[in-house]
Amino acid sequence: MSDLSTAGGILTIDLDAVAANWRVLHDLAPGAACGAVVKANAYGIGAAPVGRKLYLAGCRSFFVATVDEAIALRSALPNAPDVAAIHVLDGLPAGAEELFDRHALTPILNTVAETEAWSRHATVSGGRDAVLQLDTGMNRLGLSADDVRGLAGRKDAMAGVNLRLVMSHLACADDPDAPMNAAQRDAFLDLAARFPSARRSLANSPGIFLGPDYHFDLVRPGAALYGIAVCNAAKAVVKQVIRLQGRILQVRHVDSEMTVGYGAAHRAQGARRIATVAVGYADGYSRSLSNRGHGYVGDVRVPVVGRVSMDLTTFDVTDVPENSISRGSFIDIVSDRVTPDDVARDAGTIGYEILTALGPRFHRVYKGEA
Ligand SMILES: *Cc1c(COP(=O)(O)O)cnc(C)c1O
Repeated sequence: MSDLSTAGGILTIDLDAVAANWRVLHDLAPGAACGAVVKANAYGIGAAPVGRKLYLAGCRSFFVATVDEAIALRSALPNAPDVAAIHVLDGLPAGAEELFDRHALTPILNTVAETEAWSRHATVSGGRDAVLQLDTGMNRLGLSADDVRGLAGRKDAMAGVNLRLVMSHLACADDPDAPMNAAQRDAFLDLAARFPSARRSLANSPGIFLGPDYHFDLVRPGAALYGIAVCNAAKAVVKQVIRLQGRILQVRHVDSEMTVGYGAAHRAQGARRIATVAVGYADGYSRSLSNRGHGYVGDVRVPVVGRVSMDLTTFDVTDVPENSISRGSFIDIVSDRVTPDDVARDAGTIGYEILTALGPRFHRVYKGEA
């Protein structure tokens, strides 16, 4: 990680805000346990510090995408008596059974072949926990209705497996009016009924806002923990988590004869001041923000002018008082005023992608570390 005094960007991460978001989501689903999805390094925020913070807040159920992520999280969590469950969303890779044991990981079984392999392993080793993912319409990961019928019809298919949870994933939860939500819930109820002793989980962050019919026994928020307004209802309750400040390397005076950046993609209108900031698309500040993005200096909105380059972005700071900006001072690139969702709107993507793209070159400051 780069040094505070020289880094091109300072990324401040408010772990107290993450814990507050977890608490809000937890309280929105009072009948359910609240887990945390910390895949992709907790959406770029930092899986180890987020995992520790949420463990202390009371979270006992974590979800990651890959085995590598799970192993790293296991070593980051406290060695506490009530061990947290770490679930691997991508399932059980062939031959990975011993790894799962060694790090006390729980596979989310997505296919009949994975289920059979884990059951064989569980039978010889005296019982193993597992989760089954049921596909209710995403057609992405999980057992189909036919797979479920096949498994349920075979007595031996799940031998040795303690089925802790059955889960499914919603395709359209961010739109409360989408008819697919209720259709998936019905399909889930139907398939889950084949496994009456397992707990049930359906809701991601926006699914929590669909109300109690979607909460079941465990909710699995990711994005909302990290300050993404996952649906309209979330806007009022989700706290911002990150602030990204880009360091100004130069302030230049240009006039209407001149262009800015690659491709001469911006031409100054009249006399302007342009600040060059040491953050570019290699840092996750997408090239599609060229001539579209904006930042803030204090209360003043400063637009991106010209193309975002690999390591540099140029902002028009003409409206900022001359004495409040100079070489070495900062532009807020992501903040309470220009949230990851705002950046995403400018870039033509979603806040999730803005967070997960945040690069490794920033100096990271964690506030409220556990
Ligand atoms: C990523 C993921 C989540 C979390 O989704 P958010 O929209 O970020 O809350 C929950 N469940 C599954 C299966 C996922 O892949």
